Amino acid sequence: MTTKTFDLVDDAQSAIAAIFGLNVPVYIAFSGGKESAVLAKLCESYAGRFELLWVNTGLTFPHLEAYVRKAGERFGLMELKSNALADWREHGMPVETLSVSNALGDVRPKLQSWLGCCARSRSGPIHSFIHERKEPAIIIHGQRKEDGAPGLGLQSMPVPAHVAMAAPLEDWTTDDVMGFVKANGVELAHHYARAIPDSLDCWACPINLAKPWGPKVVDMMREEYPEKLEILRTSAQAAHRAVADAQRIMQASLTRAMPEPEHVPQREGASGDCFISAFATVLGRSYEWVAEAFGFPCPDGGGLPSLPKGRGIHMFETAAALLDLGVETTIILTTNFPSFERLQLPSPDDLRKLLQGRNAVLLTVGPEGVEHAVAWKDGRVIDGRHEDPFWLDLEDVHLLGAMILGPKAPAHARAPANVNVPPAAPIAQNGHRTASQRREEVLSILDATPDLPDREIARRVGVSPQTVGNLRRRQASKLERGTA
Ligand code: SF4
Repeated sequence: MTTKTFDLVDDAQSAIAAIFGLNVPVYIAFSGGKESAVLAKLCESYAGRFELLWVNTGLTFPHLEAYVRKAGERFGLMELKSNALADWREHGMPVETLSVSNALGDVRPKLQSWLGCCARSRSGPIHSFIHERKEPAIIIHGQRKEDGAPGLGLQSMPVPAHVAMAAPLEDWTTDDVMGFVKANGVELAHHYARAIPDSLDCWACPINLAKPWGPKVVDMMREEYPEKLEILRTSAQAAHRAVADAQRIMQASLTRAMPEPEHVPQREGASGDCFISAFATVLGRSYEWVAEAFGFPCPDGGGLPSLPKGRGIHMFETAAALLDLGVETTIILTTNFPSFERLQLPSPDDLRKLLQGRNAVLLTVGPEGVEHAVAWKDGRVIDGRHEDPFWLDLEDVHLLGAMILGPKAPAHARAPANVNVPPAAPIAQNGHRTASQRREEVLSILDATPDLPDREIARRVGVSPQTVGNLRRRQASKLERGTA
């Protein structure tokens, strides 16, 4: 222990001596965590003059409960009870990140901040115990300033005048606590030996997986509590999915708000070069660079690629070439993919969700029934063969599958061996219209020919029928209010 820790121990021992000098009943709030273990050690010489105060939430880890009961045999144990699961039923599952819709219960599952759950299920019974007491008492607890709990946790709890709260470890750091544990041979619950620096409390709580030591909790539970891990996994997955869904919606809107990305068009006369154009766009590379990478180089570094006779490049031909260049892709086919109907594949809508926040090359079918690849970059579909490359919305793409770019940054991809073309993309804007230009176009068609169906206007302008429907409704409500 350092000199500073010696001083802290001296201070804590003096405070404890003063507490016991008052000759009133003393309780140590005992969760089974490292701070409560240190407090029990510091109070050891007063054994018989205090009791441990433990809140059993009904979900305590079995080894932690055994540890608390063993300490209770030595010092005396006052067991208070709560029902964390009943709290979940009323207020929702506790989570670290909360979506408001789930907190309000508009969207299932219902979620709550873990602060509320812990306040009711862990601190609540101590609060009731104190308020029901008629005689004086002092509650010693292990809250520390370093934990950042507002008002030092239990210390800020309103208590009757005859009850006092004391936090002798308030200035201790985690290192001070662990230094004392080591120097004094304090026995801790055995999960601390796995570098899990937390009391853990409730085994079913999704919060256990939201902390930096979550993977270690999983390892411990896999070995010691495999059935309980299954239950925890199910609840944590449901909570995680709910939060991720809420974030996905915002992420989709944010990517939509990005400036329209640059693109590399397909080449006139190069039938079947859609994969070259789509990957060049997604990777921000030149047409020639990608053609070379796929093994169909453009002679002299320009012109048309040497494509296979009678067909275009197939998606399955590209993955190995890309991997060789350090570009990782994941191929996902959907239930739309021909002759794979019997496989358990994601639906096109499932794939649309997976695409949010990612870049990819999408496999679809053109109007003539031929497979066609388009880029999906920064939340926009980019069709390299269309005069307006941004004419399609993702919802309107008949998705057969996608090649989603993996975690490696495309910028790290090395150049194909025989290409001297610099990696910077040759950009062709192709005179595309901005989103607001297309909106104006929809509005003027609606003005001139209001009877034209949404789908037809969408086809003419190159937006989704849903966009046309929204603009039509907005225009109608403006007319009703007389502001059009
Ligand atoms: S540890 Fe989790 S389940 Fe237990 S009381 Fe706190 S938030 Fe609720």
